[in-house]
Amino acid sequence: MHGLDRTFEAIVFDWDGTAVRDRRASALAVRRRVEALCARCVDVAVVSGTHLGNIDGQLAARPGGPGRLFLALNRGSELFLVGERGPWLVARRVATAEEERGLDRAATLLIERLAALGLTASLVSQRLNRRKVDIIPEPAWANPPKARIGELLTAVTDRLHRAGIPALSAVVDLALLASKEAGLNEPRVTSDVKHVEIGLTDKSDSMDTLLRKFAERGIGPGLALVVGDEFGALGGVAGSDSLLLRTVGAARLTAISVGVEPTGVPTGVVHRPGGPSTFLRLLDEQLQRRDHRRVPSVDEDPAWTLALTGDDALSVRARQTLLSLGDGVIGVRGAAEEHVPQDGPTVLASGVYDGLGPAEHLLAAPSPLSLEIRTDGQHAPGGAQRRLLDLRTGVLHREQLDHSGAVRTMRFVAAADRGVVVMRAEGPSRRLAPGPPLTQPTDQPMTSGQANGVTWARTVGDRGGIAAATAEVVRRDTGRRVIDRVTAYATDAGRPPPTGRALNTLKRARQRGFDRLLSDHRAAWAQRWTVTNVSIPDDPRAQLAARYALFQLWNSVARRGDAAVGARGLSGSGYAGHVFWDADVFVLPAVATMSPAAARAMLEYRIRRLPQARSIAQLKGLGGVRFPWESASRGDDVTPSSGRADGEWVPILTGQLEEHITADIAWAASHYAGWTGDHAFLDDAGRPLICETARYWATRARTERDGTAHIRHVIGPDEYHENVDDNAYTNVLARWNLRRAAALEAPSTETAGWLRLADALVDGHDPTTGRHEQFAGYYQLEPLLVADIGTPPLAADLLLGAARTSAAQIIKQPDVLMAHHLLPDAMPHGSLQADLDFYLPRTAHGSSLSPAITASLLARAGRPDEALTHLDIALRLDLDDLTGMTASGLHLATLGGVWQALLFGFAGARVVDGALQIDPRLPLRWSSLHLRFGCLGRRVDLRVERDAATITSSGPLPVRTRSGADVDMTRQVHLVKSDLGWVVHR
Ligand code: BGC
Repeated sequence: MHGLDRTFEAIVFDWDGTAVRDRRASALAVRRRVEALCARCVDVAVVSGTHLGNIDGQLAARPGGPGRLFLALNRGSELFLVGERGPWLVARRVATAEEERGLDRAATLLIERLAALGLTASLVSQRLNRRKVDIIPEPAWANPPKARIGELLTAVTDRLHRAGIPALSAVVDLALLASKEAGLNEPRVTSDVKHVEIGLTDKSDSMDTLLRKFAERGIGPGLALVVGDEFGALGGVAGSDSLLLRTVGAARLTAISVGVEPTGVPTGVVHRPGGPSTFLRLLDEQLQRRDHRRVPSVDEDPAWTLALTGDDALSVRARQTLLSLGDGVIGVRGAAEEHVPQDGPTVLASGVYDGLGPAEHLLAAPSPLSLEIRTDGQHAPGGAQRRLLDLRTGVLHREQLDHSGAVRTMRFVAAADRGVVVMRAEGPSRRLAPGPPLTQPTDQPMTSGQANGVTWARTVGDRGGIAAATAEVVRRDTGRRVIDRVTAYATDAGRPPPTGRALNTLKRARQRGFDRLLSDHRAAWAQRWTVTNVSIPDDPRAQLAARYALFQLWNSVARRGDAAVGARGLSGSGYAGHVFWDADVFVLPAVATMSPAAARAMLEYRIRRLPQARSIAQLKGLGGVRFPWESASRGDDVTPSSGRADGEWVPILTGQLEEHITADIAWAASHYAGWTGDHAFLDDAGRPLICETARYWATRARTERDGTAHIRHVIGPDEYHENVDDNAYTNVLARWNLRRAAALEAPSTETAGWLRLADALVDGHDPTTGRHEQFAGYYQLEPLLVADIGTPPLAADLLLGAARTSAAQIIKQPDVLMAHHLLPDAMPHGSLQADLDFYLPRTAHGSSLSPAITASLLARAGRPDEALTHLDIALRLDLDDLTGMTASGLHLATLGGVWQALLFGFAGARVVDGALQIDPRLPLRWSSLHLRFGCLGRRVDLRVERDAATITSSGPLPVRTRSGADVDMTRQVHLVKSDLGWVVHR
């Protein structure tokens, strides 16, 4: 458990003896503080055994939010929320008639057994879901105040001894026995020394419910403070407040006792005796921390936090990439505050580019991060620092120590307020000073100015621009300095945005204030994690890395307008921010399970660029639309035509020849509609993506004399082999594209031609071997295996030279296999295993796109343990900078691929004919896998164990098993593994 130097986002406390001396005391002081805390976004909860009338009558708080006041009453059986108009019931545990009888019987049995030992006890009252037995019904102890708990214990113990009962705990044991005999299922027996209570719920139930409620707002146990007065055991019975700590995640709670605690407190609990006055001081401390703008705390849950200390092997720039934050519109690299701006662009904006043609690149924005941080009188380059990225709530926290104290910073890109970046810093004044509120990016002109305490700045590209406005509050007291900076961005891909737009956003953000911005931000993240999440209890490292992938995908894709998702997203300037098939085939399927709106925005990016794609086709004298291999703001081809390799200029042919992207985009449109159930999309805006691309293939492919059709002179996904004929992947995708378009259009001579052409296209499949030849003549190449030259992943073209590589069978990434990944039903039965066996030993994984898709296919093919080896590479690719390229940005396709491997590979999820189908395959290392994702307009929760699986959805969901038998639309389906595969368990 933690120390007290923390800002808590939730405070849970016991009433009697903790918040007030007794039930008659005035609670005005508590009320004022509770209302003030709620106004500062803190969730507050009273936990008590008594009923609403008692607590609300005494506390009478009427908070106006945004923090919530909970009353968890009747010893865990009721939960109320309190607002300005008073309390209302949120949940109540209702006992069955049988349970009521069981409670009566248990209490009677207990009283009888005690009487048999010579001890008079009496039933005091029947409370909701419990029976209270007074074991010292003597006038002198009619109403003992909490402060006399020690004396009471002595009196009770004496009384018990006289009856030959060794300790209070023996009475509790008797009560438990009586409860079992009376048929109670999970009885809860508690004691406040004077009474022994038998019930259906206790404070641990209150705490469970409260932690779930806090979690809705992204408040984990590490951000919750628990205050009570009875944690220590009395008479061998655990103190009643210790029940608050018997819950999942309790180790991260901070617990304080303000009680007398005659026998001391359990380890981990802080003892600050003093009763209600100490309690009030604790609340005041928390309020003061907010007034003093202290840097908020982070819940250091190892399942959700990525900690970088500077001792790891990562380069500074790789760390900056890994600690990137974003809202899909703005991306902020994790640059250390004192490093801005020497390290290249820190802030990038989705779709806003500068430059023309191949030189077009994402425009760098003014950075809002700069601070002066010194250590021991000098600027601190790295220092003894710890940076913590909290994936659960999307905040980046930093602590840098030297002997004069810690400098702490925290920042976030608001998930609930578009284009808003918030940063707070605190530290000794000698060490910390504000830098320029907005810093000019390297090599990028910036205009700036100041008005009414606000700094604005703007960078402008060839078409669009990015405006920023910042307001800063700097506070100094007793040698410490606190800096609070809120920055708002306005971006426009088409024309430079007026700074007024950024100023307006800033004004709104400032009105809401830091606490509100942060609490809404946390809640928005909590909401995201209810949509998509992954748990792999046996593999915490893989679980964290997979959550990291989801986290960065959320950060990278805008949820409206047209989302240009570059190969590195907004986390770096790699590939100049150009959009490749990475977006459509690797990122989009993942994003469709997270936010259909974001996936739709990615398609919108393509839809709005159809005119340019048409011009590209026309320039080649062909029909339909041909999308460029690399695309930026306008959608014309920005692929460079040459690049440097080994110090030499070499031509880059992908722009001319890597044509499969045109079918990939059609596939993405179809996949989006099928997965999300948004079929209207294909009747409307999405239709041209499929039909116009088909028109392209209809003119691009040639039917030759023998009646077979061919697509010559292309580069497939495997870029080691250029200018090949009949690349199987390209042809299979083009064929699918033609057939899919024909199915969307009314039958006509044109669609009949498409279908004829599709049938005539060759695909390299050989029924005798069962496998596909990657392109015409591939089998004649040097039969070199990757094992002959090294251990993958490796860049074979660099090791062997381009000429040798192109003459050998070694391939860069899945090519034939990629067709299996995207179009499992279009590939001949049995060819997946044959193609895996042939192509895997030849795959160098020279592209970051490779390992995750390989993992997905291996899992699907029933080889999950081999799959795991590849998944591990994909999971660590950026986190360990495996390719040395992380400095220039996250590999977004890998992140999307990781989620695809988990969902489509290990869980075997697919949508087939409008129904969800699963076919899970767990590797030996995992005994279970739990995924949450959106599908067909529902939220789906999938729990897989070795031989059983459960699908729970937010509404009726058609589920189909692999055997093809349809399951009724329902909210929950249990499946079991049988010889036939997964079947429904009825
Ligand atoms: C891969 C391509 C990919 C591009 C951008 C290349 O190395 O071979 O498939 O689209 O990188 O990530």
